[in-house]
Amino acid sequence: MLVSDKEMFVFSQNGENFVLDPNSQLFWRITSELILDSDVLENNYSKLLNYGFFKNHNQTKEKKLFSQFDLSNLVINPSTKCNLDCWFCYSNQYKNYNSNELNLKEIKSIIQKALDFKIRNKSNSPLSISMFFASEITIDFNIFLEVWEYIEDIKVDYNFPIYMFLPPTNLMDFSNDFVEFIDKYGYLAVSLNFLNEKQRKTVVQNLNRFENTVEKHCILPLNAHMTSFFDIYTQLLNHFDCVSMRPVRIPHDSRYPWTQDSLELFSKNMQTLVFNLLDLNDEELLQMLLSLGSSDYFVRYLDRIISRAKYTERCPAGKRAAAVNPDFRLYPCSGFIEIEEYSFGTFDDLNNADLNKVISSNLNSKPECKECPIRFYCGGPCEDWKSKLNISKFESVNHIECTINLIYFKNSIFLISKLYEKNPEILTNYAKEKGIEYMLSYPLNFEDFVLFFS
Ligand code: SF4
Ligand code: SF4
Repeated sequence: MLVSDKEMFVFSQNGENFVLDPNSQLFWRITSELILDSDVLENNYSKLLNYGFFKNHNQTKEKKLFSQFDLSNLVINPSTKCNLDCWFCYSNQYKNYNSNELNLKEIKSIIQKALDFKIRNKSNSPLSISMFFASEITIDFNIFLEVWEYIEDIKVDYNFPIYMFLPPTNLMDFSNDFVEFIDKYGYLAVSLNFLNEKQRKTVVQNLNRFENTVEKHCILPLNAHMTSFFDIYTQLLNHFDCVSMRPVRIPHDSRYPWTQDSLELFSKNMQTLVFNLLDLNDEELLQMLLSLGSSDYFVRYLDRIISRAKYTERCPAGKRAAAVNPDFRLYPCSGFIEIEEYSFGTFDDLNNADLNKVISSNLNSKPECKECPIRFYCGGPCEDWKSKLNISKFESVNHIECTINLIYFKNSIFLISKLYEKNPEILTNYAKEKGIEYMLSYPLNFEDFVLFFS
């Protein structure tokens, strides 16, 4: 029987056994049969405990909940217009409410209010502004261009940097202005519904309209109906520089909901992906890993495991990020727009007390997260997904998301340990190319590690 608790997490993946110290984020392989005996395991655990492992040395720091909203990411959703109707679209619920559209004057006024808010609060953190997360940017691209020029004009007047970001496009239909802008900007993010064959074909044709120098990133909402992940990645990498797959956040009544069965299928697909990757030669494997995009969930876990980075919050929603709806009210992120209990006022009348109640996705605010062995890799639940599943914001985590996280975590650990065995240079070169710290320079064999410290 494998042991699993918040201090020592013992688990198996593809017939191999691993131990994780959730606090230091060191993990080891258990290679000997003997060491799986619970007394031997307990004994080794006690030895390492004496040397300071398996203890949370940062507990006091993590207790700190945010108290002041420091705006650094503003999302403005001027409309919900789109030329596709994807069943999983994050903005579907928003579309039911959004009867108004923001005109250019109103968008500028929101930006001005946000800037005044930062000045009033003596905030010098950079401000990034994103638009059209609930609609298709190419439809009203002239508005985007005008806002872009407006920001270029005013940003010199502020002593903090101001950036503007483009949302992903579905790349179905766009003007030459869009092509010219992207060719200069040098980066294009495309959101692709892989199950929509028409979109797949159109996107592939339309990519040819951009310069080769443009970095092309495909963002693929991963749903419960998709299989053969390796084939999907390799197919898309024929056309894109990088690909990010990320699980869709959907309610139970969606077309392909996440269920016990679909999670099992997802787990099998992830296992197959890992074995497909391991079949590549070292150079191909490194190249493929480097082609996984910045918002890919598999890469999120691979990078966090390699760098042993500690995440104590899930995202900046409601702490440093806000989304504005057409009546100027603020919400933690676009997914909450028009859900009254998540509104926290306006820039003229922002209520920090409400904000603290609105979103509290820090690890320490959820009992399940405090006990969770992969807590520092995850950072806590996505409150938007919980709300889609009708889970109370105060009570619990979303077990669909937790299961998906655990599947990513275990597959990443397995892949990393196999790469370590095959050729550790793949991992060190990967970390170097990505600019992340390589923090796995220790014996990965648990017995050797314990012997060394004893
Ligand atoms: S959200 Fe789930 S997976 Fe993430 S830390 Fe909390 S319990 Fe763990
Ligand atoms: S709450 Fe969820 S959807 Fe919103 S920003 Fe955070 S992780 Fe993203």
